[in-house]
Amino acid sequence: MTQELFLLPGDGIGTEIMAEVEKLIAHLNASGKTDFSTDSGLVGGCAYDAHGEAISDADMEKALGADAVIFGAVGGAKWDGVPYEKRPEAGLLRLRKDLQLFANLRPAIVYPALADASSLKRELVEGLDILIVRELTGGVYFGEPKEITDLGNGQKRAVDTQVYETYEIDRICRVAFDLARTRSNLVHSADKKNVMKSGVLWDEVARQVAADYRDVKFEHILADNAAMQLVRNPKQFDVIVTDNLFGDILSDAAAMLTGSLGMLPSASLGAPDPDTGKRKALYEPVHGSAPDIAGKGLANPIAMIASFAMAMRYSFNMVELADEIESAIAAVLGGGLRTGDIMQEGCKQVSTEEMGAAIVAEIG
Ligand code: NAD
Repeated sequence: MTQELFLLPGDGIGTEIMAEVEKLIAHLNASGKTDFSTDSGLVGGCAYDAHGEAISDADMEKALGADAVIFGAVGGAKWDGVPYEKRPEAGLLRLRKDLQLFANLRPAIVYPALADASSLKRELVEGLDILIVRELTGGVYFGEPKEITDLGNGQKRAVDTQVYETYEIDRICRVAFDLARTRSNLVHSADKKNVMKSGVLWDEVARQVAADYRDVKFEHILADNAAMQLVRNPKQFDVIVTDNLFGDILSDAAAMLTGSLGMLPSASLGAPDPDTGKRKALYEPVHGSAPDIAGKGLANPIAMIASFAMAMRYSFNMVELADEIESAIAAVLGGGLRTGDIMQEGCKQVSTEEMGAAIVAEIG
């Protein structure tokens, strides 16, 4: 059955790295491994230039109808002055909101060839493969009240509200446990139950969910300890599930264990459709539009291609193909090809296109 991908390259290097994914899709379709149809739209600054919005209603409809959305990156100095609600990032926020993408998956994988690029010692990170599952639509970034009030005595008072309801914790924990079953069967749930009521509820619900997954080992960890353990001994983790704020911080810390922004993929998933079981999903590299290198053929397409591999794994259950794409990336790196951002002594520097072509050639 033909499956529909909606491609949103965006701005800056977004178009260059998406071009490499398009070549990969063409190759996979031609070799009979997949049967994807693709459509493309505008998001971010380019959409603002074309429609006066960071994403048009027509493209939002297409995103809602697609089997998966593949997103590049948005933003650039050109749009610094546009109204706040029309800024490039508003396109991504609308996609997350309208597709109800509550689960953000950020893997941190250290390819053997890049173990020396990490800020930690090789032996601590070599072979690292962890997954941070971050709640994306609730918590302190969205809770009300959220305000700054003038107290009239030369002082102001700022309030953000950390708020979670049972169903929000339950559904993100179930995503984490389901994913752990496809990996190493271990979930750490990170919260601050020692000082926060939302942490007490988080832990209570996480333990209830854990009881439904007796085959998966469950560990509680305080979020500050999780940060410490990530830089002390990251290989002790498999899946870490946590709230929006702690997930934001812990996933950035985990990301840097791998050495380069140009290597980091991500997925954002919604709830399964009650009839079909299919989830809405958006796949994107963690990095931005890198205006400093845009248009120069310098961008590393690996984060984008690895995001596409995540789509194969999580939206289409094509686990073998996802493994094959990830192995191809590892093989190309093992063969010594590097884009500028991950260049090492003794390796060969290649362009965005050359890196993309080498990965496709490796897939065969
Ligand atoms: P950035 O991630 O775009 O770039 C940070 C640094 O990393 C730059 O030096 C860049 O050249 C390098 N880099 C990033 N991706 C790379 C890749 N694939 N290959 C090689 N080098 C790479 O972050 P920034 O410079 O802070 O932001 C630039 C623009 O991107 C801003 O407008 C920002 O708002 C936007 N942004 C968008 C997203 C998104 O679309 N999800 C995320 C972050 C930032």
